[in-house]
Amino acid sequence: MKTRTRLGLGIATLVVFVVSAQADEERVSVLRAGRVLDVVSGQYRSDVLITIERGLIREISDASEVEASSDWIDLSEYTVLPGLMDVHTHLCDNSYLGAEFDHWALPAASFGIVGVVNAKKLLDAGFTTVRNVSEPYYAGVALRNAIRSGWIEGPRMFVSGPMITMTGGHGDWGGWMAPEHEVRTPAETVADGVDEVRKAVRAHIKHGVDLIKVAATGGFYTEGSIPGAATYSVPELRAAVEEAAKRGFVVAAHAHGEDGISNAVAAGVRSIEHASLMEDASLQQVKEGGVFLVMDLLAAHYDLLETDKDYSDKQLGSSNEDTYRAYADRFARAYRAGARIAFGTDSGVYPHGRNAEQFALMVEAGMEPIDAIRSATLWAAELLGIEKNAGQVREGLWADLIAVKGDPLADSSTLKDIRFVMKAGKIAKMELSSTH
Ligand SMILES: [Zn+2]
Repeated sequence: MKTRTRLGLGIATLVVFVVSAQADEERVSVLRAGRVLDVVSGQYRSDVLITIERGLIREISDASEVEASSDWIDLSEYTVLPGLMDVHTHLCDNSYLGAEFDHWALPAASFGIVGVVNAKKLLDAGFTTVRNVSEPYYAGVALRNAIRSGWIEGPRMFVSGPMITMTGGHGDWGGWMAPEHEVRTPAETVADGVDEVRKAVRAHIKHGVDLIKVAATGGFYTEGSIPGAATYSVPELRAAVEEAAKRGFVVAAHAHGEDGISNAVAAGVRSIEHASLMEDASLQQVKEGGVFLVMDLLAAHYDLLETDKDYSDKQLGSSNEDTYRAYADRFARAYRAGARIAFGTDSGVYPHGRNAEQFALMVEAGMEPIDAIRSATLWAAELLGIEKNAGQVREGLWADLIAVKGDPLADSSTLKDIRFVMKAGKIAKMELSSTH
């Protein structure tokens, strides 16, 4: 009796072993790419085999040296690139809907629901990683966790939780209302003085964020707020940076105007978001500090030129057309000066999924096409601190891969038509044409 039991267990163990070995085997896939863009050198390599195992790129070799197999995923008519990254998104926020998406009339759960839809849109658009920098409540944290757990499909997310701002600052909603009618921005979002900022950062960390976002100047979408005006003092911003650093986290600063950019850089932030009114003095500080610039040309283009909103109260002193052109010029100046630029679009200000339209705007402003792609791969990975895992098609890195028809170095608009998306070795999208 005892012997039979032992034998039975032995067979069970063997069966489990064989099944798990098969499962491992299935995790291997092989892609044949017509060509692969090496984002470091800016060169293409033709007819390449990419072997993927357990979510990582195991081997890159010449396809011509091996006998072709029907098991390969055939991307021989396509150009393969590393998965794209957008480091300034608001996946749980559909601000572009205006009054239809009334932030404080909606239950908190609504933000998570729109996030589920938008996350899939971004993944399908080729964005395998995003940095989500603020939305109401902690919807981004919930969305990140749902994707990480495999409940839903979406990009790998780094999330900030709600942007921390001063009383009456950008993101403190309900400006100009008398106190008895005031819209109450949730606690942990509005903080004044060093101690409150410190506490807000601690609370954000407690609630599961990966980084901190602060408002260092006013903004466009908050009533009464002036984009060019500085808000937090250097000590307040430094408190945020110090408190975040204790956990190994960095701070992203929303900043349009010169003084706010300067304050944020002095405080030691990792990135300046927007920098739409940046002049040469603060650009110099940004450069010397090695701080990343995230300049959202697409959101500005949409907001200023496609919807033609009235920003005459924002002390910009020009038409929407002039405001956009001035922003594109500042972007070009920062690029020529050699500042570190990471690709961020402010997705949510415009309809999610159009993110890749920004490549053409960056090139139109004067950026080399390869650098526009580097900003969304190599350089974005550096900003996120994942450059050892992502941002290139290289052995040992995460198998985050996309494929397009045509030549994205000759025509940035090819990046708007993504035919294949793989995230960590798992195919998220495959829409290959059957005829060549
Ligand atoms: Zn934003």
